[in-house]
Amino acid sequence: MGLVVQKYGGTSVADLERIENVARRVIKEKESGNDVVVVLSAMAGETDRLINLAQQAAADPDPREYDALISTGEQVTVTLLAMMLKRLGYRARSFLGHQIKINTDRAFKKARIVKIDTRKIREELKKGAIIVVAGFQGVDEENNITTLGRGGSDTSAVALAAALKADVCEIYTDVDGVYTTDPNIYDKARRLDKISYDEMLEMARAGAKVLHPRSVELAKKFEVPVYVKSSFSDANGTLVTKEDKDMEKEVVSGVTYDRDQAKITVVNVPDRPGIAARLFTPLAEHNIMVDMIIQNASVDSLTDLTFTVSRKDVKQASILVQDAAKDIGAANVVIDDSVAKISIIGVGMVSHSGVAAKMFTTLAKEGINIEMISTSEIKISCVVKAKYTELAVMVLHDAFELEKQKS
Ligand code: ADP
Ligand code: ASP
Ligand code: MG
Repeated sequence: MGLVVQKYGGTSVADLERIENVARRVIKEKESGNDVVVVLSAMAGETDRLINLAQQAAADPDPREYDALISTGEQVTVTLLAMMLKRLGYRARSFLGHQIKINTDRAFKKARIVKIDTRKIREELKKGAIIVVAGFQGVDEENNITTLGRGGSDTSAVALAAALKADVCEIYTDVDGVYTTDPNIYDKARRLDKISYDEMLEMARAGAKVLHPRSVELAKKFEVPVYVKSSFSDANGTLVTKEDKDMEKEVVSGVTYDRDQAKITVVNVPDRPGIAARLFTPLAEHNIMVDMIIQNASVDSLTDLTFTVSRKDVKQASILVQDAAKDIGAANVVIDDSVAKISIIGVGMVSHSGVAAKMFTTLAKEGINIEMISTSEIKISCVVKAKYTELAVMVLHDAFELEKQKS
């Protein structure tokens, strides 16, 4: 007998009928002889609705209250599923983050799980129960409710799988696996049978919503096998696992886009030591993640410094940066929140040259201007105007022939 963690996303629990579908799938797993721990998201659209309410209540809602509010969507789905499982004749118990406990740090809106106490779950599993856990939430040292960042239920599931030493973590969603690009953007996207933790991590960080980046970090660290599958079919799905020799053949295995980007340019920054620290320290202190950073070569000891942040942080970031810019004597700050980041990812890039050149040529041919570039060992990202997102994804997918199965 094994232990399986199954996570169902928002579209999979969007209404009572779909929650019943989840109940039947969970029961099937239980009947096959495995213990089952289920992690649920809120109903599709519910977290957005709650965020909207918070923003109507206050322009800058108190983070503690905000997290306590936006975590409530999951309380609805886990209790409904547990009720249904009981109605269908199974012992079931729902748990919120603080009832288990899922301990996190104190970073509201983007908390990180630091420890999970598995005692209650293990006790209930021994009694034959199906465990249903609210995703996306935890509790800090002072018992404040925290949330893990949008899409964070994936992370709850993988963290639970790691803590319980589960045999597998299955992520059920509205697509039947990880594709070469978002199948909802390009119909030539191809489903991958497997993908390495490293490639999946880069894809997730580059904006592929299908898995929350932190969930892949944890899966890699604790070597949790993760299957991404559809909750609406019995198709095989994609296994996220350790890299093997076959995978290295793919120079580029995926194209991703991230519309959640805003570009901030500080113009005419005096080029002297300590300037970057003065600009970026306040952002770090406010937990604002900076993604790409470019500093131009200086002319007459003046330089432009451009970087990107998440769109939801741009208001706060621009206030902090304007303050710093005044302090250091920069000319002004320019904000552009109509940009997107397009990335190509592949472990095979390490040993192939010319990949970047091909990406730039492909975008140039379509008249798409590249505003920023960044590279890592297995990823190249370009910031372009947001209106070119779909076009850029499609032409890059074609240029690297991702619709074709290689080897
Ligand atoms: P859930 O609510 O189940 O967590 P998400 O919306 O968070 O689902 O993630 C699934 C979505 O991820 C898909 O509907 C798809 O549009 C998107 N997606 C983006 N990139 C990819 C990719 N490379 N492969 C599969 N899906 C992707
Ligand atoms: N309900 C949360 C969100 O919409 C968490 C999740 O779905 O993973 O972000
Ligand atoms: Mg998700």
